[in-house]
Amino acid sequence: MSKQRKQVLILGGNFAGLGAAQKIRDHAGDGVDITLVDRKAYLDYIPNIPLEVFEGRDPSSTMHMDLIGPLAREKVAFRQAEVLGIDLDARRVRVRPNERPGSTDYWIGYDILVIALGARLAYDEIEGFAEHGHSVSDAFLANRLIDYLENEYRGGPIAVGSARFTQGSKGRPPWLPTALAACEGPPVEVSLALAHWLQTHGKGGPKNITIFTPAPMIAEDAGEKVVGQLLTAASAMGFGYMNDTRDIVRLTAKGIEFADGRSLEAELKIVFPNWKPHAFLHGLPICDEAGFVVTDLLMRNPDHPEVFACGDAAALTVPKLGAIGHQQTDIVGRQIARDLGVMKPAQADTPFAPEVVCIGDMGGGKAFYIHADAWYGGKLQELRMGRLPYLQKVAYKEVFFRTGGRVPGWALPTAEWMSEQVSG
Ligand SMILES: Cc1cc2nc3c(=O)[nH]c(=O)nc-3n(C[C@H](O)[C@H](O)[C@H](O)COP(=O)(O)OP(=O)(O)OC[C@H]3O[C@@H](n4cnc5c(N)ncnc54)[C@H](O)[C@@H]3O)c2cc1C
Repeated sequence: MSKQRKQVLILGGNFAGLGAAQKIRDHAGDGVDITLVDRKAYLDYIPNIPLEVFEGRDPSSTMHMDLIGPLAREKVAFRQAEVLGIDLDARRVRVRPNERPGSTDYWIGYDILVIALGARLAYDEIEGFAEHGHSVSDAFLANRLIDYLENEYRGGPIAVGSARFTQGSKGRPPWLPTALAACEGPPVEVSLALAHWLQTHGKGGPKNITIFTPAPMIAEDAGEKVVGQLLTAASAMGFGYMNDTRDIVRLTAKGIEFADGRSLEAELKIVFPNWKPHAFLHGLPICDEAGFVVTDLLMRNPDHPEVFACGDAAALTVPKLGAIGHQQTDIVGRQIARDLGVMKPAQADTPFAPEVVCIGDMGGGKAFYIHADAWYGGKLQELRMGRLPYLQKVAYKEVFFRTGGRVPGWALPTAEWMSEQVSG
């Protein structure tokens, strides 16, 4: 590692961190040294965890991709450590190596910092979650849910939905609305796939399940037309629906109590919490009042132009979707290449223009595909349901693992084209 070259430090090595490392190498070439810090040495392919568990596979053995090999191919140094804090003035990050307990803390310096640390899923702030709640956002929770369904579930009512999301406002562009839930593809996906699982296991079906949302409309970022079609299909199947719950107050043995005063009886409570920024980000001048990292549309912090953010950690990423973080990593790579003088502003300065792209499992080899920008003021609102989106969801993961995250540039447009033109 040569200190002659600019030192790029990436915090976080899941979708946004790995993607940023690859895009920086693509656009900036060998003119930078890149170091990536994560507390774990694998990438967790979170979007397919529900599909895996409902199809009888353990996501901890199928959804973890080695991170070190793909990073080494990009000449990116990996450091396994817990990130503890950022000293913006001294341009350094405090870390604690975590391969073995008992380590002391160290500082890692940087010229350019990319924050891709995702968010903290705050189950611990939902009263009663430990005793009465379930979820699917990691392999532990997903396996715990399937154990419950197979061994303890008595066929009673099931509630699936989200707690209230707290979004910041500092530096927010006027076209970015306030979201009341962080990411509502997962509750829709889990409801559909679980209904199929209940049917095939002789334990019920859609009528057992009520989907709830803190917002006036579930998955509102998908656009009114798409959600209208989804709700019509779901109500025809027999799902219950409850909107405007505002927030979850507590989970009990009997069900869920909501902030609007209503409650829902449920034997099984599958919930998605508030996506909160990591505690050490709170109060930093680069963050908004919630703790998400503020950037302009080129993913750069306005007060600290040497700091970038992408993925769930960025304030602009709403809803919290991997596909949106992916769009941002390319911008980060181009901006760093511009700073180094190896890319012209005309090629580098295409601003972030989010599109929601989401493929959710429905069980039985089918999935729904959503492609929309209507929530941000655009015209795009596409919904397709069927076997083709399912094949794309599975194939995308397969290509991702085989290429170490370097899914060819044509794969996403091809998936969009196939879903929107061929299926339907
Ligand atoms: C059930 C479910 C289904 C989903 N389905 C989809 C989908 O179909 N499509 C889609 O686009 N999105 C989906 N999402 C959202 C998607 O998973 C996230 O948007 C995506 O994972 C965000 O990527 P990220 O790299 O920004 O953050 P993360 O994936 O959260 O990664 C953050 C990384 O930072 C590391 N880290 C965090 N804190 C520290 C620390 N202090 N020290 C060291 N390392 C740290 C973590 O170990 C992790 O590797 C889904 C989410 C869930 C829960």
